[in-house]
Amino acid sequence: MGIGMCGPVLIGHGTKAQKDHFLPRILSGEDYWCQGYSEPDAGSDLARLQMTAVEDGDDLICNGRKIWTTHGHAANWIFCLVRTAREEIPQKGITFLLIDMRTPGIETRPIWFISGEGVQSEIFFSDVRVPKANVVGRIDDGWTVAKYLLLFERGGSVAAPGLKASHCRLIETARATDDGNGHPLISFPDVRARLAQLAAEVANLEAIELRVMSALSAGQGPGPESSMQKTLNTELSQKITHMAMELAGVYAAPFQPHATEIGGRVQIDRAGGDHVAAGPASAWSATTRYFNDRAASIYAGTNEIQRNIMAKAILKI
Ligand SMILES: Cc1cc2nc3c(=O)[nH]c(=O)nc-3n(C[C@H](O)[C@H](O)[C@H](O)COP(=O)(O)OP(=O)(O)OC[C@H]3O[C@@H](n4cnc5c(N)ncnc54)[C@H](O)[C@@H]3O)c2cc1C
Repeated sequence: MGIGMCGPVLIGHGTKAQKDHFLPRILSGEDYWCQGYSEPDAGSDLARLQMTAVEDGDDLICNGRKIWTTHGHAANWIFCLVRTAREEIPQKGITFLLIDMRTPGIETRPIWFISGEGVQSEIFFSDVRVPKANVVGRIDDGWTVAKYLLLFERGGSVAAPGLKASHCRLIETARATDDGNGHPLISFPDVRARLAQLAAEVANLEAIELRVMSALSAGQGPGPESSMQKTLNTELSQKITHMAMELAGVYAAPFQPHATEIGGRVQIDRAGGDHVAAGPASAWSATTRYFNDRAASIYAGTNEIQRNIMAKAILKI
């Protein structure tokens, strides 16, 4: 979230001092960022956010709660949206603020997922003092900065290479599993047809992503197409993880997160890591990946919300 989101926002909206200080530390990995947008009553309707920041001399005093914060337990910095004023239009009076997670008054609690992961957190802020120098953009005018960041969150990177790797795993599983009568699943025409269809969809996504990357490297922003990218890549990923479960068959039934790779996309608690895994290696993570991927159409703004944005910004409906 440092390289993919905070960095681009600082380049686009930060002061020289903020760029000089934070950008090298993002690149070196010295600072590891998380995103404090969502709150218990502000998800799709993000402008309803309630976490407050009250001016006190050169500082802002923050109180409130963020939820679903990915990597909140590991990050040493968080970029937050806070309410600095109450206006008739809720998008006004929001400020984009960089907060050092080591500041007194911050408590992080993990949220455990069905996939076995605990990488999302709930974060509580009690009288947390943050220098005004950490405001990106202007006080009360953070909505523009927040929306700019979302373009990069949804469309500033590529998913096709990862999906290609997942597709290769599908083929390996289809070769390694059979129908119970010794016929490998890859030999069935409907399995082959579905694999071919998914390969075509990955190639299609790759073409779109290359176009967006080309625009980015020419200095343009990701634009509203980022909503299309996010929707396509998450729904395609869900189709792939769904098929992986079907191909894994009986091997998907034993939930075996201990067999999932360390440092892979699915992070797990490896307590009891000496278990013997069942089934072909390509199928070991099918269940954890499937469960993890259910969230893909929710995070970074749900796919329903992305369709609303596409209808408005691209189709002009
Ligand atoms: C795994 C995971 C990681 C996340 N990581 C982060 C993070 O790091 N930082 C962060 O700030 N947030 C994070 N989030 C939060 C995420 O952005 C929100 O969950 C998301 O925006 C949806 O908000 P909500 O959960 O409050 O659902 P709601 O907004 O309550 O939505 C509930 C349902 O109603 C639908 N809906 C709501 N409004 C509309 C509408 N206008 N039109 C059509 N349908 C609508 C939604 O599509 C959804 O299906 C994460 C969430 C998950 C699941």
